[in-house]
Amino acid sequence: MSESSAALAAQNYVESIYGQVVSRNPNEPEFHQAVQEFLHSLVPVLTEHPKYQEHGILERLVEPERMVSFRVPWVDDRGQVQVNRGFRVQFNSTLGPYKGGIRFHPSVYGGIVKFLGFEQIFKNSLTGLPIGGGKGGSDFDPKGRSEQEVMRFTQSFMTELYRHIGPDADVPAGDIGVGAREIGYMFGQYKRIRGGHEAGILTGKGVLYGGSLGRTEATGYGCVYFVQEMLAAKGSSFDGKRVIVSGSGNVSVYAMEKAQQLGAHVIACSDSNGYIYDPDGISVEIVKQLKERDRLRISEYVKFRPGAIYQEGCSGIWQLPCDIALPCATQNELDLEAAQTLLRNGVQAIGEGANMPCTLEAMEFFVERGVSFGPAKAANAGGVAVSALEMSQNSMRLSWTFEEVDAKLQEIMKNIYTRSVQAADEYGVSGNLVAGANIAGFLKVADAMIAQGIV
Ligand code: GLU
Repeated sequence: MSESSAALAAQNYVESIYGQVVSRNPNEPEFHQAVQEFLHSLVPVLTEHPKYQEHGILERLVEPERMVSFRVPWVDDRGQVQVNRGFRVQFNSTLGPYKGGIRFHPSVYGGIVKFLGFEQIFKNSLTGLPIGGGKGGSDFDPKGRSEQEVMRFTQSFMTELYRHIGPDADVPAGDIGVGAREIGYMFGQYKRIRGGHEAGILTGKGVLYGGSLGRTEATGYGCVYFVQEMLAAKGSSFDGKRVIVSGSGNVSVYAMEKAQQLGAHVIACSDSNGYIYDPDGISVEIVKQLKERDRLRISEYVKFRPGAIYQEGCSGIWQLPCDIALPCATQNELDLEAAQTLLRNGVQAIGEGANMPCTLEAMEFFVERGVSFGPAKAANAGGVAVSALEMSQNSMRLSWTFEEVDAKLQEIMKNIYTRSVQAADEYGVSGNLVAGANIAGFLKVADAMIAQGIV
């Protein structure tokens, strides 16, 4: 086959797989989007190596090994019975136990869980650590719920989930709406049901009972370390740069903190209601107090900082001129129009702290225009990487210092960057880290799948 007809065959193969995904998973646009972005990157690999098609790797990769959906009944503070839906997708166990967080948010349904689980396979592969890909969640909305309600719901969620997970089988962690508090309740319930202290059953645990130092900071810090590498390649750094970080959850807070430590001027962050602009630089301490301690809205920030401005609506944050943008809130929060505005205002680098925060069009636009672009699978892999380090510490029954964990995290983020750059170079898409990360993540899983036979 000539080179161009091989490329055409690979393109057709990828399109037929995508067509199957769409027809088998109707009405799941987020899952389709994640698969589309990924498959598109693989054309040069499939052109060069027919073995992946011969072994049916793509057909197997896009179909979860297992997906469970379950009822989560609980009683609210008024004594009324509530029923939510819970999910766990065990997408791919080629490299290790299924690993991935749990999301509590009203938008959660099968398509969201599948998109996140699919991403997790390749993100986890990129970390270089022995973890497969999984994800879970529920459409439960923690907003406005009392401490007691959150506990009852979370315990009920684990009362079903426990039978599907295990320290060598599937190890959940947090995601949107699931932080240290919820992980604690889940851990307690699991322990009670199983009758033993299996530390490795969950990650993101409190440091008092088996958690790792540095896990809380890992996703945000890791995202900044990744962007630091991209900037260094262009002879630049965070020092003196104007940075926008959307969101105000765990990822956003620690991305802001690390960017500031590196000399950046962080001017804005947001929540799902609106954004704050603080020309004097965001006070991360105030954001932490408001969001982590008091569980309040970001609009309250302006009461503490008279120079700051609050604006309703979160997408307006991308209208502010900046040098570096770190979307750390949620999927599809940054569209083509926002991307065009950011570029017009001189943005130099983007680091995706959230999962799939840029739409496909926005991502393609940034890559085509030569803006340094750190895709989620690579840029936000720090969280799950330190989760894997937490699993190692649990197995050893030892704990590392914060400095040890942070040094390992920096090393891991550097390696992910280097491997993504090298994969892009090798397959003729130099500078395109979206393709590079997809290819590097894919190759390890695909080769290991071939080694393990048709399973
Ligand atoms: N939810 C995080 C992610 O998207 C972390 C998963 C984990 O630590 O298992 O990668």
